[in-house]
Amino acid sequence: MAVLDGEDEVAGLCSDLIRIDSTNAGDNAGPGERAAAEYVAGKLAEVGLEPRILESDDRRANVIARIPGEDSSRDALLLHGHLDVVPFDADDWTRHPLSGEIADGCVWGRGAVDMKNMDAMILAVVRQRLSEGRRPPRDVVLAFTADEESGGAYGAQWLVENHKDLFDGCTEAIGEVGGFSVSLDEARRLYLIETAEKGIAWMRLTAHGRAGHGSMLNTKNAITELAEAVGRIGRYEWPVRLTQTVKTFLAEMSEALALELDLDDVEATMVKLGPLARMIGATLRNTANPTMLGGGYKANVIPQTATAYVDGRFLPGYEDEFFQTIDELLGPNVTREFVYHDIALETGFDGPLVRAMADALLAEDPGAVAVPYTLSGGTDLKAFSQLGMRGFGFAPLRLPADLDFSGMFHGVDERVPVDSLRFGVRVLDRFLDGC
Ligand SMILES: [Zn+2]
Repeated sequence: MAVLDGEDEVAGLCSDLIRIDSTNAGDNAGPGERAAAEYVAGKLAEVGLEPRILESDDRRANVIARIPGEDSSRDALLLHGHLDVVPFDADDWTRHPLSGEIADGCVWGRGAVDMKNMDAMILAVVRQRLSEGRRPPRDVVLAFTADEESGGAYGAQWLVENHKDLFDGCTEAIGEVGGFSVSLDEARRLYLIETAEKGIAWMRLTAHGRAGHGSMLNTKNAITELAEAVGRIGRYEWPVRLTQTVKTFLAEMSEALALELDLDDVEATMVKLGPLARMIGATLRNTANPTMLGGGYKANVIPQTATAYVDGRFLPGYEDEFFQTIDELLGPNVTREFVYHDIALETGFDGPLVRAMADALLAEDPGAVAVPYTLSGGTDLKAFSQLGMRGFGFAPLRLPADLDFSGMFHGVDERVPVDSLRFGVRVLDRFLDGC
């Protein structure tokens, strides 16, 4: 087998994946992940692996492969990436989101950031290592999943429910969203490694009242009840709650910036984070945002019910407090039910695997400062955690200081610098040596 160069391959792999349409609008009516899965499986088979393509529904395809390690008696490591991407409006883009164009030093297109970049980096590093005959120190399971962007019912969640034997021995997992750099100054960059995720509570609220003529007295008006509950929830100021992850993040960052850290006023510290505060600021507290509102059908008819939707996100360890508060805000005449509900996650920023990530970053970027952070959203890790895995978001990228990376997740003109991908391949290679 010819030796392959992961750094040379990675941009092309990323571009190829972007050109394969795998948009997922959440309706199970899109192109599915089958074509992307076949591409990935082909690339893995070329270096001697025996990938399995597993379809949860027509064209909803996942790929799983196991790389035998030097010591298969050790616990295994899962590397996972999703193959689907969110939809786009091509008119808003400078370059077509399915072009995969490589221009201005970047790979462009939907998925360049979330997360065909990491899929390509995993493929590139695995292909290089296997073409050189270098096995990882322990078994590594690769999972390329369907449907992450809609909760994983056809992807990670389905795999966990139907094929958990494929993850035998996996105790740790590496996936999105983390490992990218945020410049502190010329010399130093924070690398945010995801160690926690907020939980998700999308809720439908229903107010029940007494229907009647709009001209008459009515003290049980569902619209009024609902509007008041929505107003209370929307205006509620959730208290700051510092989780272990956030405390460690703030301590590490303050040390790196030589800032005085005031835990009673963390929001002052947040201001210094620039665009990143959008991501980190939401991890200081639970949140609940009203997102949809409906009720009634005629101007002179008081309806019996009215409904609203709320997007709630709770911190690890604060789920009970979240629902207690929500129930108080709802009041007695408004009920709630889940549209979607998923757990919060948190693991410590310690142990050999964390050291392996930090060391790999430092070896490739002497100015690297690895810090843990909480993702305000969710990933496939929530599903894999049900198999007892401890997980991290670690898709390493050294980024230019002026690139608003976090703004490109699901954004317009999604693109990733080729140099960042090459950096990621080098870091992942070192990481796999040390895992
Ligand atoms: Zn993603």
